[in-house]
Amino acid sequence: MNTKLLQDLKDYDAAGKDIKTQYTEISELCMKYITPERREGRRAYYLSIEYLMGRMFHNNLLELGVLEEAEKILSEKGVKISDFEEVEDAALGNGGLGRLAACFLDSAAGCAYPLDGYGIRYKYGLFKQKFENGEQAESADDWLTWGDPWSVRRENEKRVVHFADMDVTAVPYDMPIVGKSVNTLRLFYAEGSEQAQKICEYLYPADDTEEGKLLRIRQEYFLSAAAIGELAERYVRKYGRSFNRFSEYHSLQLNDTHAVMSVAEFIRLLTKDYGVSFARALDIAKHTFNYTNHTILPEALECWDYALMEKILPEIAAVFKKIQSYAVREWKRKNCTKEEIAAMSVLQGRRLSMANAAVYVGEKVNGVAAIHSELVKRNLFPVAYKYYPDKFQNVTNGITQRRWLMLCNRELSALLDKKLTPAWREDMARLETLDTTDTAEFIAVKAEKKKQLAEYILRHDGVKLLDGAIVYAQVKRLHEYKRQLMTAFAILRIYYDLKEGKLKDFHPSVFLFGAKAASGYFRAKGIIKYLNEIARLVNGDEQTNKLLQVVFVQNYNVSYAEKIVAGTDVSLQVSTAGFEASGTGNMKFMLNGAVTCGTMDGANIEIIEHAGKENNYIFGASVEEIERLKDTYDPNEILSQNADVKRVCDTLTDGTFSDGGKGYFKELHDSLTVGAHWHKPDHYFIFRDLPEYVDALIKVNRDYGDKAAFAQKQLENTAHAAFFSSDRSIAEYAEKIWNIVKK
Ligand SMILES: *Cc1c(COP(=O)(O)O)cnc(C)c1O
Repeated sequence: MNTKLLQDLKDYDAAGKDIKTQYTEISELCMKYITPERREGRRAYYLSIEYLMGRMFHNNLLELGVLEEAEKILSEKGVKISDFEEVEDAALGNGGLGRLAACFLDSAAGCAYPLDGYGIRYKYGLFKQKFENGEQAESADDWLTWGDPWSVRRENEKRVVHFADMDVTAVPYDMPIVGKSVNTLRLFYAEGSEQAQKICEYLYPADDTEEGKLLRIRQEYFLSAAAIGELAERYVRKYGRSFNRFSEYHSLQLNDTHAVMSVAEFIRLLTKDYGVSFARALDIAKHTFNYTNHTILPEALECWDYALMEKILPEIAAVFKKIQSYAVREWKRKNCTKEEIAAMSVLQGRRLSMANAAVYVGEKVNGVAAIHSELVKRNLFPVAYKYYPDKFQNVTNGITQRRWLMLCNRELSALLDKKLTPAWREDMARLETLDTTDTAEFIAVKAEKKKQLAEYILRHDGVKLLDGAIVYAQVKRLHEYKRQLMTAFAILRIYYDLKEGKLKDFHPSVFLFGAKAASGYFRAKGIIKYLNEIARLVNGDEQTNKLLQVVFVQNYNVSYAEKIVAGTDVSLQVSTAGFEASGTGNMKFMLNGAVTCGTMDGANIEIIEHAGKENNYIFGASVEEIERLKDTYDPNEILSQNADVKRVCDTLTDGTFSDGGKGYFKELHDSLTVGAHWHKPDHYFIFRDLPEYVDALIKVNRDYGDKAAFAQKQLENTAHAAFFSSDRSIAEYAEKIWNIVKK
C-alpha cells in the first residue's frame, strides 16, 4: 500500500503550485490510501466535547509509515513539508482533556482497538492569543484557512436534532485516525437557521448569562443526540428493535460530564421510538455507559438548572427526573440514609448534577491517575463508593509516543534506534534497557532541540533565548491551582538574590511559559500580565540578563508544545497537591528527557515511582498535609515571618510593577492575603510551598553543573516512560472497562 502511495508522490506534479495547493493535493493523495475499517463486533465510542488534535499532516504520514521517504521524494520536487507547519492546528479543545482524547484515539488506532470518537466540529477553535502590552488579546481561530483535506463530509448521513424551539441538522465530518487500524473521529457540524449554526461556532461559549447557558446545553445535547441517534439506528438496522444486545456491541465512554445528556437521550429514544420500557432502557444504559472524571474542583462539576433544560429539552429533563426517582427507589432498597440519598441525587434541588447522573448510570467510573482515583472515591463520591465500590476504577492517563517522541523529537528517536534498535517503537518497555550512563549523544541531541526551539521562538515571538541556558518550562492552561503565580514569585526571588550577589555560580537559566487564560478568568489574565511585567524587568536588567531570562510565548498550542517538550531540561509541574487530576504535559517532558521539578500531585507521583525520586526534584506539601492544613492555614503568618516571601508578594502592590490601572495585581494580592467571598486567602497554598520551590529550582541549577550526571537523570526519565504511553492506558480501558479486543 505504502509503495503505491510513494509512487503517487513521485508522480505528483508540484510545479507552479502555491504551498496551500500543494498541501491540499498531497494530503488528498494520502487520503486515497486511508480506508476506515468497519469491523463487525463490539466497539467502544469516545464522547468528548473537545479534541485537541494538532496538525494532521506530519502525524498521518508518520502513521502511514512514509514520513521520511515522502519528505525525501517531495524535497526533490522543491516541496518542503516543514513549510506545512504553517497550517493551523485543529485546536478544537482547551487543554489536557482535549489532548487526552486525541492521544487515546491515536493509541487505539495504533494498537488496532476498535474505538471511534464523537465530537463537535467547531467553526472556530480555541481563540488565538497575542500579547498586547503584556496582556492577553484574543482573536477568532479560523482553523480552516488551509482547508481540511483530512476530513470527509458525509452528506448522506446527516440527521436532524430536535429542540423544543428549533430543529438543527447535524452533518458528520469524518477524520480518519490512522494506525494499525483506521478508526474514525466523527465530528458533527450544525446547520440550519442562524441560531442553529451558533451551536458549533465556538468551544465553551461564555456561560455567565442564561443565553450562554442555553447555548452550552444545546451543544451538549447536539453532540449527544447526533451520536446516540446514529448508533441506535445502525443497531436497529442490524439487530432489530429489541435493543437486548445493544450493550453487547457498544461501550460508550463519557470524557467528563459534557456528554452525559447522551444517557438521557438514549433512554428517551428507546422508550419513545422503540417501545422499550423505562426500566429496561435504564438497565441497558447501565451496561453501556462509563464515565471518566477529570477534576475534583467543585466549580468544574457541571450542574444544569432544571427549568432551563426543560425550556428547550422537556423530554430530556423529564428523563433525568425519572432516573432520579428510579435511583431513589434503588437507594431506599439499599437502606441509604436521607443524607446519603441527597449526596448521590441527580436532582439537587432545582439543579441537575451531571456528575451524579454519570456515576449512577455509569457501569464504570474512573479517575485519571492513582491519587486522583483515590480522591474521587474518598472525597468526591464517597457515598456512591460505599454502595457501588466495584464501579470505581483507575486508569492513569498517557500520551502517544508517536506524536510526542517520534514526531516531535526525531533526533532522540534516531538515537534510541541506534542504541536499542527500532524495536522500541513497537515495544516501549525496551526503553528500560537504555544505558543511561552513556550520555554524550543525548547531550548533543538536547542541545540541537534547544537550538530548534530557540529558532522557533525567535520566529514566532521575536525573542532570542539565552545561549546554552538551562530551559525550565511551565506550559499548560493558566489556572490558579497550577500555580504559575508561584513560579513568578520564585523567579523574582532568584532575580533579587542574583542582583544582590547572594546566588553564586548560577548557570544561565530561561524560564519559559505558555498558557491561555479562559476569556472570563480575570485572575488568570492578571497572572499573564504579571509574568510579562516580570519578563520585562528581568530581561531588561543588564546586571542579571545574561543569567536569567523569562519568556512567555504567545498562543501556546499542540504545535508549540511539540517544540517545547523536546527542547526543555526541567519540567515545572507545581500544582497544589490534590488538585491536578493527572496532568499529561508532565509525561511529554519526561519522555523527551526532562527532569520534573514538582509536587507530589497527579501523575507526578507515578512518574517519581517509575523514574526515581533521585532523578527528579520534588518539593512541597503532600495531599495529606494540604488536607490537614486546610482549617488552620494562615498565609499572613508566613508573610510576617518570612521576609523573602513577603518581599516578592509585595511586588504586586508596592509599585514595582504596573498593571496599567486594571486592578489585576491588587486583586491577586487580595486573593493571597484577604481571600474572597468564595475562598480563604491563598487557598492554593503558594506561601507554604514557595520557599521549598525556590530551593528545588536552585538545586536543579547546581546539579546541572555536572553535565553528565544531570543528563543521566534526564535519560533515566526517558528510560522509564513506557508506563506513560497512552497505548498502555488504552489497553487498560480495553480490558477493565470496554471489554474490547485488538484486531
Ligand atoms: C499536553 C497539553 C496540555 C496539558 O498540559 P498539562 O500540563 O497536563 O496541563 C495542554 N495544552 C496542550 C496544547 C498540550 O499539548
